[in-house]
Amino acid sequence: MTRLITEVAEAAALLRAGELVAFPTETVYGLGADARDGRAVAAVFAAKGRPQFNPLICHFARAEGAFDEEVVADERARELARRFWPGPLTLVLPRRPGCRVDLLAGAGLDTLAVRVPAHPLALDLLRLVDRPVAAPSANRSGGVSPTTAAHVLEGLSGRIAAVLDGGPCAVGVESTVLDLSAGGAVLLRPGGVPVEAIEAAIGPVGRPIPLTAGEATRSLRSPGMLLSHYAPSLPVRLDAQVVTAEEALLAFGPHPLPGAGALWNLSPAGDTQEAAARLFAGLHWLDAEGRRLGLKRIAAMAVPETGLGAAINDRLARAAAPR
Ligand code: AMP
Ligand code: MG
Repeated sequence: MTRLITEVAEAAALLRAGELVAFPTETVYGLGADARDGRAVAAVFAAKGRPQFNPLICHFARAEGAFDEEVVADERARELARRFWPGPLTLVLPRRPGCRVDLLAGAGLDTLAVRVPAHPLALDLLRLVDRPVAAPSANRSGGVSPTTAAHVLEGLSGRIAAVLDGGPCAVGVESTVLDLSAGGAVLLRPGGVPVEAIEAAIGPVGRPIPLTAGEATRSLRSPGMLLSHYAPSLPVRLDAQVVTAEEALLAFGPHPLPGAGALWNLSPAGDTQEAAARLFAGLHWLDAEGRRLGLKRIAAMAVPETGLGAAINDRLARAAAPR
């Protein structure tokens, strides 16, 4: 049962306990989860029914929460934050060493999208939660972004703990997403803050060039569309039925294949949500451990297509794609 609540403290307590709570922002309702809790982040993807792990925007009560702890902010980022935060502008910045946001929230990328929303209830909530809150729009995958609590319930009732009701959203369009992580500023998504206003603050902003399929597999610009962006440095072999001592094994389920040179079990219990929460950490660890031990590749056991299995397999297929 999804509860409709009006008490911010109750919403904050649920989020801190690892539950999912939809909350109003000035753009659309977000589906919030503790961004440092991999299980909670995995539950977001499960509730939305997303077939892929898109990177999520992390929400903060203050710019310092993002800049001091989770991401590296240059002068442009600080200037934009001074002008437009709280507000509908999302900045993509490099993850800071020691960043505690779960890897799944950023879909395994070394960048993180951050924003301070301009909604009094959202800010109260974020202050009380006192940690970053990952939140995509609070709709089922493919559905329309919700601008009222009733919209959220239409799509997600029974799939999340609660909706914090703050009335209709003011902006109704999503945040502008600006990538500052690699030199020039690039507009990834137009939204609530016009690009002209951004250019008045920091100078010219690049528009992403539409990519052909071949280019998309090589470019670092558009993470959701890439084939091989999530690849570890060791080659990845899918659907392993046996494994050798020269391979690092990404296992799933109660019976990991015997004989691997290194082992990371995504979920001994065979739970795809737990596996999703452990996927990117596992790939990073196996890659590092495999290289340390001089192993030749990562072998991945089959993961069923049920639940978050489809999104896991999508990512593994990208990791195994030829480069
Ligand atoms: P939504 O979750 O529906 O608000 O959409 C979030 C948007 O931010 C999507 O367009 C994502 O691709 C984009 N985004 C989030 N994190 C990143 C990132 N690290 N790099 C590039 N784009 C991102
Ligand atoms: Mg959306």
